[in-house]
Amino acid sequence: MSRIEAIVSGLEGYDPDALPVDKAREAIRACLTPVAGAERVGLRDALGRVLAQDVVPPINVPAHDNCAMDGYAVRSADLATDREVVLREIGAALAGRVFKGAVAAGECVRVMTGAVLPPGTDTVVIQEVVRAEGDRITIPPGQKPAQNVRYAGEDLKQGIPVLRPGALLRAAELGLIASLGLGEVSVKRRLRVAFFATGDELASIGAPLAEGEVYDSNRYTLHGMLTRLGVELTDLGVVRDDPALLEAAFRRAAAGADAIITTGGVSVGEADFVRPLTAKLGEVLFWKIAMRPGRPMAFGRIGEAILFGLPGNPVAVMVTFYQFVRDALLCLSGRSGDYALPLLEAQAAVPLRKVPGRTEYQRGVLFRDGDAWKVRTTGQQGAGVLRSMSEANCFIVIEHARGRVEPGERVRVQPFEGLV
Ligand code: AMP
Ligand code: MG
Repeated sequence: MSRIEAIVSGLEGYDPDALPVDKAREAIRACLTPVAGAERVGLRDALGRVLAQDVVPPINVPAHDNCAMDGYAVRSADLATDREVVLREIGAALAGRVFKGAVAAGECVRVMTGAVLPPGTDTVVIQEVVRAEGDRITIPPGQKPAQNVRYAGEDLKQGIPVLRPGALLRAAELGLIASLGLGEVSVKRRLRVAFFATGDELASIGAPLAEGEVYDSNRYTLHGMLTRLGVELTDLGVVRDDPALLEAAFRRAAAGADAIITTGGVSVGEADFVRPLTAKLGEVLFWKIAMRPGRPMAFGRIGEAILFGLPGNPVAVMVTFYQFVRDALLCLSGRSGDYALPLLEAQAAVPLRKVPGRTEYQRGVLFRDGDAWKVRTTGQQGAGVLRSMSEANCFIVIEHARGRVEPGERVRVQPFEGLV
């Protein structure tokens, strides 16, 4: 038995002709091995990349105990709980300008936020509560020892790893790494993804539309979705439903890619035509997934590249991409932690037609109504109606076993913001 089939057929409840969504995810996940390989990049170029090293602070952040407020640095031993005390101001410390002297009993130092805490002091009294007359500073009672002080290493401790391999480097991580004085990091190499659209009916932009043809839109949707994921992509164009042309396209795709994505050619009528071809070049399973849209889907490998054969319908392409391909690519890219898309709850504002026995991904508009978040559909839900994706701001995810949803019932939603 082939490698992939050996893995997936061992999963409990695996049935390629009626595969629940969760089982399909599990099967895909079981077949993935994250890519190896890393490169060093400058900090700005690391945005959106996956960390390949431990980040271990070479210094404490902050490096020194310092003042969190503008005011006066004092010795807490000089303060009284029940009466005012008068201290003598002997100098000032600013952010970036250290007070060099020593502070003796009865003395204090004027400080600004970020200033290194002057030696001998341990407490900062905010300027708003003191009375200053020349160098005589009157401090009211009720100050707490150690108040308004930020300690060295409070943010990041020298020697204790703060980021691990697999972390996604976002704006916060760039700043965090910069705060350690590090200008370069090691990141995992970018995933390489090749894709093409199949279909005799497809016309390319720029060509006139002959009778029975449609413009290929899937490659543009894929371009958008893959670019957003930060992978390196190779667009191999439109490929006719012709065995020799398809074979050539698969071979070219597999030559340099970690993953191959195709659209079309996996529906019942067309799969039989593609099956012998893919069997020759690798191992590919043709699934009927219990979902809508996106029922037919192929999964396997061509050469060493993982293959996702997505359905041809434009909405099904997007749904299967976000429900299966996205997770798989993030796993292959070496990401750690939980990167699954969040599922939130909202109230159905309208009835939602649904039959039990499949997971549905209806296109929804999530909106606020007073204190409640509600969701309605975008109307026509056909797998070919790409307008439904454009008008939507979320998927309404209706679970496998659930039937029709009545207004007022809770449903799960997956917001698109930051996603599509
Ligand atoms: P298929 O899965 O190949 O049977 O295609 C299903 C439907 O999706 C057909 O109506 C196709 O015309 C349409 N379709 C397939 N590929 C594309 C594409 N690249 N762009 C737009 N529509 C497509
Ligand atoms: Mg087709």
